[in-house]
Amino acid sequence: MLTIDDLHATVGGTAILRGLSLEVGAGEVHAIMGPNGAGKSTLAYTLGGRPGYEVTGGSVTFTPPRQPVLDTGLGSSSSGRAEDNLAPDQVGGGDTAEIDLLSLEPHERAAAGLFLGFQYPVEIPGVSNVQFLREALNAQRKARGQEPLSGGEFLKLAKEKATLLRMDMDMLKRPVNVGFSGGEKKRAEMVQMGILDPAFAVLDETDSGLDIDALKVVGEGINAIMRAPHKGVLLITHYQRLLDYVKPDRVHILAKGRIVKSGGPELALDLEREGYEAVTV
Ligand code: ADP
Ligand code: MG
Ligand code: MG
Repeated sequence: MLTIDDLHATVGGTAILRGLSLEVGAGEVHAIMGPNGAGKSTLAYTLGGRPGYEVTGGSVTFTPPRQPVLDTGLGSSSSGRAEDNLAPDQVGGGDTAEIDLLSLEPHERAAAGLFLGFQYPVEIPGVSNVQFLREALNAQRKARGQEPLSGGEFLKLAKEKATLLRMDMDMLKRPVNVGFSGGEKKRAEMVQMGILDPAFAVLDETDSGLDIDALKVVGEGINAIMRAPHKGVLLITHYQRLLDYVKPDRVHILAKGRIVKSGGPELALDLEREGYEAVTV
């Protein structure tokens, strides 16, 4: 579903990603672990297309499923057929469209079904979560040739996702992330993910700043929203504890800008016990 091949990227003229290769299949959750400064966030930002993160080599191919990406379970889309909503050059044969992710603008990547969860969510004073989320969803629907959701339809969807993340609707009426605790920001972000219903999520240290209860809620939220045969997740985490809730199919260790070791879930436990140095030498 996501194929990263020999990716090189620089930030501020410094090479950070140096030949990173990784393949995530549909229905899979892959964890990326690694020491501070390894390039984990750089990978997330590069996949998202953040300005300043310059790709100097390699490729990223994104192959979202056509139908389910567009199925919000609400209302009717113009045609329901994803191929109508992708540029002609991005429509391949079979049931999926192969997309050269790096050729797309950030908003086009989102419309194609890529979601990025950030380590440090931004605050947006003066804009409520509800306004922000509805704008974000309707912008994506527009990019896919779908009708916007009405206020009523949107609120129904927002309530459903807020309930899933045990978040009070009153919180969603407050300005985006302003005065939110670390845990509340992450839960709000997962509500956002639930509303946008992406085909693929890259979650960068979604567990940072979470207490045990919030960790469980967020972990279960990720499972509920993203554990599906047609979806994929790249879960970037410094610690193994989130993986107690979101069981990865594969675990990769990122060090100095490339994957230095891959394995099953037990690799995360080895890391926790022995540390990065011991496991990667
Ligand atoms: P991680 O998320 O694994 O802790 P990052 O991707 O944040 O690592 O950072 C990788 C390396 O890139 C670090 O050495 C960091 O100092 C450097 N780096 C990150 N952002 C910038 C930037 N904006 N300008 C210059 N160097 C940066
Ligand atoms: Mg870091
Ligand atoms: Mg980071």
